[in-house]
Amino acid sequence: MTLRPRSAWGTLPWSPTTYGRSVLGLPLEVWRPTGRCDLLVFAAIHGEEPETTWALSRALRQLGDPPAHAAVVLAANPDGLVRGTRANANGVDLNRNFPTSTWRAAPVTSRATIDLPSDVLLSPGTHAGSEPETQALLGLIAELQPDAVIALHAPLACIDDANGSALGERLADRTGMPFVRDVGYPTPGSFGTWGLEHGVPVITYEFPVIANEDLMRLHVPVLVELLTGTLP
Ligand SMILES: [Zn+2]
Repeated sequence: MTLRPRSAWGTLPWSPTTYGRSVLGLPLEVWRPTGRCDLLVFAAIHGEEPETTWALSRALRQLGDPPAHAAVVLAANPDGLVRGTRANANGVDLNRNFPTSTWRAAPVTSRATIDLPSDVLLSPGTHAGSEPETQALLGLIAELQPDAVIALHAPLACIDDANGSALGERLADRTGMPFVRDVGYPTPGSFGTWGLEHGVPVITYEFPVIANEDLMRLHVPVLVELLTGTLP
């Protein structure tokens, strides 16, 4: 796999296809591999984590050719991304909306900053899997049948892998971040729990609290390695 020269990093070199629409009608876009999909990497299911989209886009823009075996979703929650909200336009935390045995109708909470208590209220949806973004992502996964899915989040600074997979361990080694089996608090209806219950290996790659410049130096190269199948 050849990488593009830096002078070409300004634009995405090929076009995505649309796998659904958000509540606001924005396209849900996927950059597909040329061959069988071994890995799906998605960013910004939480719109308040825009650095995940930026970093994954920076990685994608370095590739000389479409990845052979990796699919890329730059914004799983485009409504949240354009409005700067964790939730989608219905006020639903999409990462608490997946159809799992743990899904509950009670409001879910998140932290305004990492040092504060988890007390910002959001909806988990009217029912499990109620949101178009959730349904579309599940549809994409059913179609692509990836061997593993990597969900990009921030800012917990860990590799969270309930399966303790070899890929998760390699990511932890490569990034120098802790390898954990769970994030230490309940996440009913999360994508990771959905994966665990449905036999889809999910790794949550949590960026640290970090400036974009350092993300570019420390984590974008790891994403390039993931997309090109060259992670040590
Ligand atoms: Zn998140």
